[in-house]
Amino acid sequence: MRWMSNMAEILDGKALSAVVKDEVRSEVIELEAKYGRKPCLCVIIVGENPASQVYVRNKVKAAAYTGMESRLIELPADVSEAALLERIAELNADDAVDGILVQLPLPKHIDEEKVIYAIAPEKDVDGFHPSNVSGLWLGKDCIVPCTPAGVMRLLDSTETEICGKTAVVVGRSNIVGKPVAKLLLDRNATVVIAHSRTADLASVTRQADILVAAVGRPGLITGEMLKPGAIVIDVGINRTAEGKLCGDVDFASCAEKASWITPVPGGVGPMTIAMLMKNTIRCFKARQ
Ligand code: NAD
Repeated sequence: MRWMSNMAEILDGKALSAVVKDEVRSEVIELEAKYGRKPCLCVIIVGENPASQVYVRNKVKAAAYTGMESRLIELPADVSEAALLERIAELNADDAVDGILVQLPLPKHIDEEKVIYAIAPEKDVDGFHPSNVSGLWLGKDCIVPCTPAGVMRLLDSTETEICGKTAVVVGRSNIVGKPVAKLLLDRNATVVIAHSRTADLASVTRQADILVAAVGRPGLITGEMLKPGAIVIDVGINRTAEGKLCGDVDFASCAEKASWITPVPGGVGPMTIAMLMKNTIRCFKARQ
């Protein structure tokens, strides 16, 4: 029993992502029966960034597991911006395609912002298009970016009441920190966003009932920076000098203080992919 031990419970993103993917798998069957076709996710990768190749492979694999259609479009690193935008325009116009994802980062000669803006908002499964971003901040029902959505699903799996809790989000990027903070605010948490210029980070993180680390600095968050019993969600994906994956949280010291903690790997990462499947279903339904 947790209250008899000093160790946190593991928030198992791998197991939860399997549950989410099974939900999607059942929905795919229902949707095909109802509408006569399966949802279709289209993933574009430009160049041969090894990390991007792994992410894309995992996304296509997850789509296959759920039974939805998927298309992988691999473009050479020197593809022109115009050619990429043209491919996106074709997919926007293709009625058989429900979701379009362009794996980031893109080679330097391509303007990422232009590419994100080019994806039809109703097919923007990453939730990065300004119309989805503004929807999120205005409290509209819109496509939510996958990693923040996965963080919320992990939090909900602990069955902890979020309302009234203090949540500290470390990191303020457009794809993780800011949207996670807004989703926590929507659930009536008192939200603090900490970042690289935060003075005395530890004094801020010690207030957190819920701590989300999305920084990209291995071991930045240590046990002494936590309030006892905090829920710790580690979004970071870093590589140690030995090539091992690790998060932003020093797992050993934080697991002694936290009530729940996500591992890396096996925490937020698999949830991001599972929520991408959910977003594809959402786009399919909205287009019917
Ligand atoms: P980013 O580089 O865009 O943003 C990092 C943020 O951390 C910045 O807002 C910066 O202000 C803050 N920061 C930097 N140094 C800090 C410090 N010393 N103290 C406090 N704050 C500091 O990164 P991102 O795209 O948000 O990604 C963050 C991490 O999450 C990375 O490791 C990335 O690989 C990972 N990530 C994981 C997933 C996933 O699916 N698990 C998805 C996206 C990103």
